[in-house]
Amino acid sequence: MNELGALARTAGAEVVGTMTQRLPHPDSNTYLGKGRVQELSDIVRQLNCDLVIFDDELSPTQQRNLEKLLDARIVDRTALILDIFAQHARSREGILQVELAQMEYWLPRLSGQDVEFTRQAGGSRGATGGAGGAIGVRGPGETKLEIDRRRIRSRISDLKEAIEDVRKQRAIHRRQREAQAMPVVAVVGYTNAGKSTLFNTLTEAGVLAENMLFATLDPVTRYIVLPNHQEVLFTDTVGFIQKLPTKLIAAFRATLEEVVEADILLEVVDISHENAIEQSETVTEILDELDALDKPRVTALNKIDLVADPSDIDTSLYANAVPVSALKNQGLDVLLTTIAQVIADNMALVDVLIP
Ligand code: GDP
Repeated sequence: MNELGALARTAGAEVVGTMTQRLPHPDSNTYLGKGRVQELSDIVRQLNCDLVIFDDELSPTQQRNLEKLLDARIVDRTALILDIFAQHARSREGILQVELAQMEYWLPRLSGQDVEFTRQAGGSRGATGGAGGAIGVRGPGETKLEIDRRRIRSRISDLKEAIEDVRKQRAIHRRQREAQAMPVVAVVGYTNAGKSTLFNTLTEAGVLAENMLFATLDPVTRYIVLPNHQEVLFTDTVGFIQKLPTKLIAAFRATLEEVVEADILLEVVDISHENAIEQSETVTEILDELDALDKPRVTALNKIDLVADPSDIDTSLYANAVPVSALKNQGLDVLLTTIAQVIADNMALVDVLIP
């Protein structure tokens, strides 16, 4: 539920409460039991919630019934994750893959009526104030799509074709990016590891940022000058998620294209989390699947302020590990110096290979 809360906040929702129920099986009509639905309905009314998010995939029937009973919009885990992917998708393939996953999600859920997928202007991650109302029905890209059941199937086959075309062009695109001189650092890690906090602290911590250049960057890329005056671009990626629904894996991978194109990876690990090691192993597995394992990596062991005895941490488990607290602004100078060093080492290697 903590992770779900973090995901909901990432999507721009304000979380006002959580509820769980222990049942042998989810109720086929309402997911929750009758009493729990009534209780939830009272809470929704009292707190004036416009959105209820379930940490599971709901059947179309459960979703429709709950919507009626609770008089609030109902979003399930899959729709929430797709919403976050939609906000993060920037590459052409990412946008197409997310839209495809959204169409496939909605197809069995449409009962004749039109569903409008819209992307709210400025409704990006972290946005508050009303953004919650649209969570789950925002699509990627700038276009507003009105889809009905009749047209959704042909849209799905168009999307599949377009994805094939994009794949063919991808190699060309990558060569263009490689011509860009500034090293790109992609920030990876689990949701809730502190990626956004680190991102913000790094840019606020007196690190130089040229406004002119800023304006041309997309919202998840920051221009940073390292202590050795090396200029780099930091780019945030969509957070890794536990129990990612298998249907969403293609969309997830496509939104990680920045990772494939980055020169260096900065992995953020919540070192105070009991599963920190397993989470980092999962990150490594996914990087392997993306063919990004040979990229130089620096690991920010974040939330060190929550660890009682930091000397207990086995830093040898992580590549170029630097203990930090993004929240308390601890260790970030060492982190930046380490990144500068790894870039310098890497560039020297390139010089040797290409004399
Ligand atoms: P993201 O999902 O990886 O982008 O994670 P966030 O940056 O949103 O952080 C998730 C939660 O962890 C937030 O409540 C942060 O305030 C908290 N957090 C992030 N960094 C630190 C840290 O260094 N120390 C502590 N104690 N909390 C942190």
